[in-house]
Amino acid sequence: MNTFRVHFRFLCRLGCILGLLSTFGRNAAAEKPGFALVRDGESACSIVTAERPSAAARLAALELQSHVLKMTGAALPIHTEADNVAGARILVGDSKAAAALGFKGSDLEPQEYVIAFRPDTLILLGRDRQDGETNRHETGRTTTGETLASLRHRVDYWRTAGLPARSTGEIELPGLYDLQGTCYAVYDFLERFCGVRWYGPALINQVIPTSANLSVTGTDLRRAPALKHRSAMSRGSWPFLRGQWGTYSESEVFLYWRRMRLGGEKWAANHTIHRQTIKDVLNDPEYQAEGPARGMNLCYTNPKLVQAVANLARDFFDGRKELPEGFKAMGDYFALVPEDVGQFCRCADCRALLRQGKDRHTGHFSSGVVSNYWFSFVNAVARELKKTHPDKYIATLAYWEYAYPPEGFDLEPNVSIAPCLHTCYYPHNAAVRENDMKLYNQWLAQTTAPMFMWVYYHHPMEPALIQHWKCFPHVAIHTTARYARKFIADGVRGIFECGEQDQLEQYILVKLWDDPTLDVDAAIEEFFTLYFGAAARPMKDFYLELEAVACNPANYPEGTRWPSEAISWQHLGTAERMDKLGALMAAARRLAETDTEKRRVALWDDALWQWMVAGRSAFMAKERGGAP
Ligand SMILES: [Zn+2]
Repeated sequence: MNTFRVHFRFLCRLGCILGLLSTFGRNAAAEKPGFALVRDGESACSIVTAERPSAAARLAALELQSHVLKMTGAALPIHTEADNVAGARILVGDSKAAAALGFKGSDLEPQEYVIAFRPDTLILLGRDRQDGETNRHETGRTTTGETLASLRHRVDYWRTAGLPARSTGEIELPGLYDLQGTCYAVYDFLERFCGVRWYGPALINQVIPTSANLSVTGTDLRRAPALKHRSAMSRGSWPFLRGQWGTYSESEVFLYWRRMRLGGEKWAANHTIHRQTIKDVLNDPEYQAEGPARGMNLCYTNPKLVQAVANLARDFFDGRKELPEGFKAMGDYFALVPEDVGQFCRCADCRALLRQGKDRHTGHFSSGVVSNYWFSFVNAVARELKKTHPDKYIATLAYWEYAYPPEGFDLEPNVSIAPCLHTCYYPHNAAVRENDMKLYNQWLAQTTAPMFMWVYYHHPMEPALIQHWKCFPHVAIHTTARYARKFIADGVRGIFECGEQDQLEQYILVKLWDDPTLDVDAAIEEFFTLYFGAAARPMKDFYLELEAVACNPANYPEGTRWPSEAISWQHLGTAERMDKLGALMAAARRLAETDTEKRRVALWDDALWQWMVAGRSAFMAKERGGAP
């Protein structure tokens, strides 16, 4: 396919999807002058930062430079404002020049940014972390246990961007949870005005339109991502994403997370009271659990334990020392979640509270059996913490047997709850969905603190990997989109994704977290058109057929919790459907024209289709009694 066709399609789509006036392409620049970045392959402006730019502004300037270079062949010079720069400028991040035009990061909310057009000047600026004495010692551990400092990844930027000849060594990226509004401004600019798309971390996953001219016009924009905490730090740990992304480095993943604007507001919640923390920190014999839970759980009615935990939270909020390993806390949130065991203290006080939940079974994983017991303890710690730190929160999960709110009392206002919902079950399992929505709505109605969420995307892939079989791809992109929008509309402040989806579903989820008004069908259409070009139609049909099969409850036998191997290949990937899907993939292989299109089709063919073929054939062999 010639490149002009790509540009033309891109122009049409940008016009209708975004409603923006953008000029791009060989002939367009002359008709619509706008702000010219590149004319006839030559730089038409300079990138200008402060003399000492923030880590975010430094990365943002490089990202802008490298993408414009790939688009046009022109390397816009990067200057600091100490240089005397003549001509048109793109001001990236805080600078005296931006301030003179009325733009200052400190005037913006956390995570907010602006894209502004002025004569001969384009402003791309957001609120960034300023490294200084006040925040240098800030500590914290994420939901998955990493320290804040360890998330200020170092990468060789130009090597990671695929242009190693320009390498000048490693730079430190803004931390995932550091303010980096200027990066958001540049990423939004590259997507919205230049048509760049990052469908994954590898170069093959990126859509970068090319032309000798690049100029933009538009109206000023001031915004921030809708969801404040965005945790879907996928590394391609599971076969679909890994296969669809292709070959990529860890550094490319680190850059991809920034481009997708993951991170944001600091919050963390995960198991914090478990064997290790009990052994290392909460080891006072006085509050150890009685009975078989000893060593795994504590006596949650013991006042001395309440004091000890409140003091740990105080030490964290006061920044006294790095949080001990095994604990999780970030920003204003200190997490308190017990071990994943069904054993609790057998002392009289604990048993009395546990008895209160004996009739609260639901028949599902999520119930209220332990809610009164667990949340009594959480409340006690929260009341204690409030005496010294009234503006800080105890973060906990609404999970498993303490998924429902307690009965007979409310949570303290400084307890921040995060319901754990089985979103991957929603398309096919109405009973789980209804139970989840019931507990979710109860929390929503009663919680006053900021609410976060833990969403599961782990079935059927996780059991399939553990048990060594291959599942029918559980594509549920429209259900995922519907619930992502709902959670944001309900005021949920942040989401942690547990598990990994396929390349496109993951992408759409994360884009909705940034902007829940995204037209999902248009974004899906755009993806297939831009990504697979001549093979777009059969690839889209293939993908939507996977979704239609996986999300039709009629395809599942009565009482299915999640698709097992037998359900995958007897009820979902039937011979007839496999024939249809195989024919679509064959058509895509045949239609792909360019080398890039062929490679992308091959990645999906290997990751999804060959996986399915192997999965079904292994199952059929077992059914026939042959070797698996
Ligand atoms: Zn006890």
